[in-house]
Amino acid sequence: KDLLAKFLSDYKRDIAPSPQGPATMVFADELQAAIMADQLDVWFQPQVDVSTGQLVGVEALARWHHEEKGFIPPGIFIGIAEKYGMIQKLTDSILKKAVKQISDWNKMGFDITLSVNFSSAGLCHLEMPEVLDSTIRNSALRPDHLNIEVTESALPKDSSATLDILTRLRLKGFGLSIDDFGTGFSSLEQLKLIPFTELKIDRSFVHNAADNKASQAILESSISLAKRLNIHCVAEGVEDQADWDLVAKLGCDIVQGYFIAKPMPAADFIPWVREYSKKHRTPAT
Ligand code: C2E
Ligand code: MG
Ligand code: MG
Ligand code: MG
Repeated sequence: KDLLAKFLSDYKRDIAPSPQGPATMVFADELQAAIMADQLDVWFQPQVDVSTGQLVGVEALARWHHEEKGFIPPGIFIGIAEKYGMIQKLTDSILKKAVKQISDWNKMGFDITLSVNFSSAGLCHLEMPEVLDSTIRNSALRPDHLNIEVTESALPKDSSATLDILTRLRLKGFGLSIDDFGTGFSSLEQLKLIPFTELKIDRSFVHNAADNKASQAILESSISLAKRLNIHCVAEGVEDQADWDLVAKLGCDIVQGYFIAKPMPAADFIPWVREYSKKHRTPAT
């Protein structure tokens, strides 16, 4: 009874820090209402091939625009969705919207991959691979064009169910990406156990790495680790020319970061692609 009372009172007033002020009250029930009414948006951030500068994919990122408080960062609402059992519904809605969008872009001739973030809750449902299969079946998206991003912390330790789900996803041809690589506690162990196809180096080892010996060493080792494992390597948080030049020199495959573009709503994407293709970044530029 006490636990239930505590849950209900937390649920009513979950307080989260906000960039707009000292504290923003984010109400879990408001989030729930927004999710139920399908009001969450999905924005897209481009990923480009380092050696050619070509656009190769996008990462889908959830956006919640609160009527009074404006944009609430996912760093805040994702945690609340996880805590109160709403993350499954959120992931589902983001995935459906993103798959539909990429499928449309694929039909327009853009051969790009889609990366979607999954939380641990989504990795406990044994039927997840079949659900994903049916989500993309009626779309133009092929399984090898859908990357499922999981952070190390999202992976429950010693969970045979999770390993089972991830392995079956891989067998169905989906991409598996280890997100924020380097920030968790057991990333190396997980790389050994799980058939990942992509390693995303956390931005804390990427931006300004040229000025920081430790970051640079970790960045370099992570890239060669990906190469030895024969999987793709993505550098997050490439914010300027120096970051770009370093990851290019170290032989990273794919770059994602503000230097290329910030996440954007779907409507801005095609105009952005047109602009980008004019100036096409390559390591030499
Ligand atoms: P993430 O999956 O690691 O996504 C990358 C985050 O880094 C995004 O933040 C993106 O806007 C930001 N970013 C990209 N390039 C740069 C850069 O050059 N510099 C800097 N400083 N930041 C950059 P965002 O959109 O605020 O999302 C934060 C996190 O929230 C994501 O990190 C992801 O863990 C989580 N998230 C977002 N959408 C979803 C979702 O639909 N489901 C789940 N489960 N988690 C989500
Ligand atoms: Mg991600
Ligand atoms: Mg990340
Ligand atoms: Mg992150």
